[in-house]
Amino acid sequence: MPDCLFCGIAAGQIPATLVVDGKRAVAFRDLNPQAPTHVLVVPRDHFPNVAALAAAGDGLLDELVAVAREVADAEGIEATGYRIVFNTGQEAGQTVGHVHAHVLGGRPMTWPPG
Ligand code: AMP
Ligand code: ZN
Repeated sequence: MPDCLFCGIAAGQIPATLVVDGKRAVAFRDLNPQAPTHVLVVPRDHFPNVAALAAAGDGLLDELVAVAREVADAEGIEATGYRIVFNTGQEAGQTVGHVHAHVLGGRPMTWPPG
């Protein structure tokens, strides 16, 4: 069992409900959804947060955003709108140290976030 939860899900060793199964990234449903659509998009490779992913270059961050859009399309929320959130660090509420984009939609979103 890998010690990183999302490495385990990306490798198919920990069960999750996959929405997109891509070459370098996967999308799966959040276990504790905060909106009618709440999907997490993660690279298969391990990066601790979005800043580390961006620093690595090679287009993987672009790919995460492209997959997020693909999720929004598949969920029928591309036109109504959706939010992409990268919680980064403790005060932002990051609880899993493997970069993940939250894709949230299907209801009006409040701003600013709590
Ligand atoms: P964050 O708090 O931004 O690090 O987001 C972590 C997210 O992972 C939370 O929204 C959790 O509900 C979600 N989560 C935790 N464990 C699992 C799991 N095994 N499968 C799917 N989502 C999970
Ligand atoms: Zn990982």
